Amino acid sequence: MQSFYDFTLPDLEKVIGALGNEKFRARQLYKWVYNKGVLDFPEMTNISKSLRAVFGTMFSTALPAVKDAVVSDDGSIKFGLSMEDGNVVESVFMPDGERNTLCVSSQIGCRMGCRFCVTGKIGFKRNLTVSEIVGQIMAVRRYLPEKRISNVVFMGMGEPIDNLDNVLAALDIMKNSLGLDFSHRKVTLSSVGLIDGLNMIHSKVASLAISLNAADDKKRTYLMPINRLYPIRDIVNFVKGFKASRRVRITFEYVLLKGVNDSMEDAKQLAELLAGVKCKINLIPCNESPYTEFKSPSPETVERFQAYLHDKRFITIIRDSRGKDVSGACGQLGMKYLEGSQ
Ligand code: SF4
Repeated sequence: MQSFYDFTLPDLEKVIGALGNEKFRARQLYKWVYNKGVLDFPEMTNISKSLRAVFGTMFSTALPAVKDAVVSDDGSIKFGLSMEDGNVVESVFMPDGERNTLCVSSQIGCRMGCRFCVTGKIGFKRNLTVSEIVGQIMAVRRYLPEKRISNVVFMGMGEPIDNLDNVLAALDIMKNSLGLDFSHRKVTLSSVGLIDGLNMIHSKVASLAISLNAADDKKRTYLMPINRLYPIRDIVNFVKGFKASRRVRITFEYVLLKGVNDSMEDAKQLAELLAGVKCKINLIPCNESPYTEFKSPSPETVERFQAYLHDKRFITIIRDSRGKDVSGACGQLGMKYLEGSQ
């Protein structure tokens, strides 16, 4: 039986149409499952009993099981979600006033090997399926029925553009008004800058963030080996050429690593590199982990770095990482795989 969460609405219409049933049944199913959160076919009362029975044999609406839900001091929750093959995927729920963001994973492990990231140390295990991506949102939504997930960021385990087909299909389900009904502005894809894939994403698909972390190629290649394939100049040219309305800006993420990329000289190089580029800069003080050698700069260093960029008129935000105490912050996911408990 195939997971219901693997089907975009047009795919579901095709499957149901091929059985000789009216296509609008697909829209009815979408409304029940995604809009109303009803997962049991017998409860879908505007569909005939016999058809409900047929759908019950065709589609599984089972969700990933919540293996752990560890609450951080800052209120964020790191979820360990068990997939059918026993792998555990981590997703992090981050409440912030009216805004509740869910950070989802797109792969188990990752082949990008960024030096400052625990997931990168695991190596690549496999891509998540469409249903495993959508299932993270559905499972957390069900676990926290009183909270509305307002934003989704693909900043968990994996490089989303390296699993592009499944991520695009999941986005289709997430943005469909009968599906999870997110605006494209409320969903962010974060990438190391796989330009060939990024070129397939226009501004109405999702917001984009690119992990930059250094303004010179030597340093970036040391931190992010993928820079050999997609060097800084290509990334900046991609951002310059990105077609979007005036209000849309691509975000550059810059993880600040003590003594590596946090000097005034680094800030100056970054300002020179991005001069005239329509963008935002998120500064992320490194989240320390026993599996990486990097340390977090002092708050004064971070503020000085930001002040320099502000002076140069860049929109620069210090991103306070959430869930550090439960290893749920940026770059910390997947530690269990390294500890051998997964
Ligand atoms: Fe992969 Fe992202 Fe970690 Fe780099 S930072 S290794 S792309 S998960």
